[in-house]
Amino acid sequence: MSEIILGLEGVGHSYDGVVEVVSGFSLGVGAGEIVCLLGPSGCGKSTVLRLAAGLETLQRGRIQLRGETVADGESGVSQPPERRNVGLVFQDFALFPHLTVARNVAFGLADLPEHQRGQRALEALAQVGMAGYAGSYPHALSGGQQQRVALARALAPRPSVMLLDEPFSGLDARLREQIRDDTLRVLKRSGAATLLVTHDPEEAMFMADRIYLMQAGKLIQSGPPAEVYARPNSEFAAKFFSNINELEGIVQNGWVATPLGPIPAAQWPSGSSVKVIFRPECLDCVPINGASGRAVLPATVTEVRFIGVARLIRVLATAENGAALDLQVRTSGAFAPEVGAKVGLSLDPARAFVFGPAQNAMQTPLAEPRSNA
Ligand code: ADP
Repeated sequence: MSEIILGLEGVGHSYDGVVEVVSGFSLGVGAGEIVCLLGPSGCGKSTVLRLAAGLETLQRGRIQLRGETVADGESGVSQPPERRNVGLVFQDFALFPHLTVARNVAFGLADLPEHQRGQRALEALAQVGMAGYAGSYPHALSGGQQQRVALARALAPRPSVMLLDEPFSGLDARLREQIRDDTLRVLKRSGAATLLVTHDPEEAMFMADRIYLMQAGKLIQSGPPAEVYARPNSEFAAKFFSNINELEGIVQNGWVATPLGPIPAAQWPSGSSVKVIFRPECLDCVPINGASGRAVLPATVTEVRFIGVARLIRVLATAENGAALDLQVRTSGAFAPEVGAKVGLSLDPARAFVFGPAQNAMQTPLAEPRSNA
């Protein structure tokens, strides 16, 4: 990976001196890399970003920018935000209403001589396709245009680090996609190391080179989007990215028997009580009499939702022990069964995840194998 430009090591923070809202948190962002800090509301993402920016005083751990320690919880070193040379973009854009677009962008360029400020502000506006609005006031701009101006203002001093906190949340859904796309290009062209906070997994997958998934102040998993999506390290990580289907079973000799066939579970001792989790797009729904290489479980379609790029199909099947299985299928295939249709279900075992019901299930088998009972 490229040189680390923004580094956090063992960062911890508590607002009340008692409860840590961020704890033992580390991350590194390389030059030109976009890292998304993802997690549910209140898990500590903004706190991490504010600590990196210097908007909160660091209590524990260390923060480095371009190889220099800018904050150290132990020694009390804390460089003020204006000396960190980071670009900031917030959800509300925080533009000055009484200043023109050009003056808003020039605002952070106090270090430049006056005549260069205007020039640089125009360059930054051109970077985001807003040069034609230099003389406008923020209230005359759409939300998307204001977002671009906020981005230009943050980029104008050519920061080596960009920090963005939910920068698209204030935009309506259709506009958001376009602005995300544009912002991604602008950030990549700028070469800045970017840390972007979002609670939206789709946004994180679209924007990020790497995702850092957080829960309750802690890092749960980090990696490229495709990896975190396809190989979640926990039930929480699996569920955060999509709806899921869930079955329960007991491991026997490295396999869990399920109504959808055996699933490999080599890392679990025999007797472990586990959950088998799989995403709706990993469950195939086929005509009941159709030719299929795999064994299929008969099921009845109970609901069909068409969402343009795919169909969400709900099916009801019955397990061997008589238990009802309510499962979700997401398909973009040509087969489009209607409610009431009999279908066959098949699951690619390689795309199912196996997790213990309790975190210690790997060390402590919870139940004896059923066949031994
Ligand atoms: P996120 O960005 O993931 O939504 P935050 O970092 O904003 O999470 O907040 C983490 C926790 O810290 C939350 O419980 C929040 O209520 C609390 N918190 C955030 N800012 C403050 C503050 N200034 N004073 C006290 N508590 C705060």
